[in-house]
Amino acid sequence: MPFCPYCKKKITMSKAFCSDDCKENYFHLVSIRVPRPFINRLYTFHNESEREIEIIKYSKLHNMKLDLLRKKVYGDAIKAGFLDGSSTNSALQSTYGG
Ligand SMILES: [Zn+2]
Repeated sequence: MPFCPYCKKKITMSKAFCSDDCKENYFHLVSIRVPRPFINRLYTFHNESEREIEIIKYSKLHNMKLDLLRKKVYGDAIKAGFLDGSSTNSALQSTYGG
């Protein structure tokens, strides 16, 4: 049984995504590029609330969906070693419902 590449729900063989929303979000997320210096700045100079403001500004500036940008930033921060992936994943799951 294949899985929806965005939300990881099980889907039928004939489908690539479980819904049009997932398809749209998936490609939107893939297209988001966050420069490393931006991530560094967020996690070096900003506290949590300032970081949120910067992420909102960035999403507006580049016309990105905020929740997807946030997801991308967290993912990149984990890769960059600013966040611990295992604890952040569970925190994200509780925030976004998986
Ligand atoms: Zn899906």
